[in-house]
Amino acid sequence: MSCKVVLAQGISASYREELKNTIKTRNIRPKLVGFLANEDPAAAKYAEWTAKTCAETGVEFELRKCSRNDLEDKIIEANLDAGVHGIMVYYPVFGDRQDQYLQNVVDVSKDVEGLHHKYVYNMYHNIRFLDEAKTKKCIIPCTPLGLVKVMEYVGVYNGILPHGNRLHGRVVTIINRSEIVGRPLAALLANDGAKVYSVDINGIQEFHRGVGLQLKKHEVSETTLTVEDVLPLSDVVITGVPSPSYKVPSHLIRDGAVCINFSTYKNFDGDEIKKKAAIYVPAVGKVTVAMLERNLVRLYDYQAQDRAS
Ligand code: NAD
Repeated sequence: MSCKVVLAQGISASYREELKNTIKTRNIRPKLVGFLANEDPAAAKYAEWTAKTCAETGVEFELRKCSRNDLEDKIIEANLDAGVHGIMVYYPVFGDRQDQYLQNVVDVSKDVEGLHHKYVYNMYHNIRFLDEAKTKKCIIPCTPLGLVKVMEYVGVYNGILPHGNRLHGRVVTIINRSEIVGRPLAALLANDGAKVYSVDINGIQEFHRGVGLQLKKHEVSETTLTVEDVLPLSDVVITGVPSPSYKVPSHLIRDGAVCINFSTYKNFDGDEIKKKAAIYVPAVGKVTVAMLERNLVRLYDYQAQDRAS
């Protein structure tokens, strides 16, 4: 078996080091506030990790626990507090459209997760900067951004091509089309030039910028293709199915593919996938947290820029 297993710890190391150096050499102390308003053990775990990584890099992290009915007021309080540079909420809170409403209550200038409508809209429309002078990059949601960084790290992005086209010719299957990860990820990768098969429980959509990347932003088309059709065509397979029993059928994976799992559960059979994949990334959580902190430092700088102007 010649499969190389690549761990999130190693992928995130250079980002954590860069954050640590930036914070130390510039002598800054960006503050992130995380709101925990649910009883979800996975959210508590994520909060624990965030606290640990922040302590390592020099970010001040404060976890604020509150009831879900108090959350909106607490977010507004943090929006108005100049000592808070970034805000995140551990979702799900209500588990319905109210969560979407709360995502938009977080001030756009403090939204480290990139979940505000402005960022989401800009991402889908391939608008990469907040200002005309192109000094402020848009914030991209942490997990999709983390997955882009994973793909850069393992060499799926082709550095010879210009930025924005570096996935031209790549075929990617993403098994998950949630609004938090799968759909934004499909859009980001297609905007960067890939042909993406986006799989969910109901079927498959294709995200692409057309032959020769003639479109400025991706378009989506429905397909009648099945997982059996698209897996053998895919250079990269990314999966995030939230179920312990779900397994990607290894026999359909192309020999030499890159396989990445972001689900909390192991969507690939570890032994089987290593017989087929060239590169296997079993988890990405640590990269997500590094992206969260990177977004925080970016927002810290934008806030300083706004105060100065
Ligand atoms: P979700 O429930 O909102 O979405 C799940 C998606 O998977 C949906 O698009 C659904 O249609 C699809 N799906 C489910 N079963 C399927 C099947 N059998 N075949 C094809 N598609 C199927 O979940 P989510 O918020 O996107 O989270 C998914 C997983 O990713 C969870 O395990 C979550 O904990 C994890 N997650 C990890 C990170 C990270 O940074 N590592 C971040 C966010 C979420």
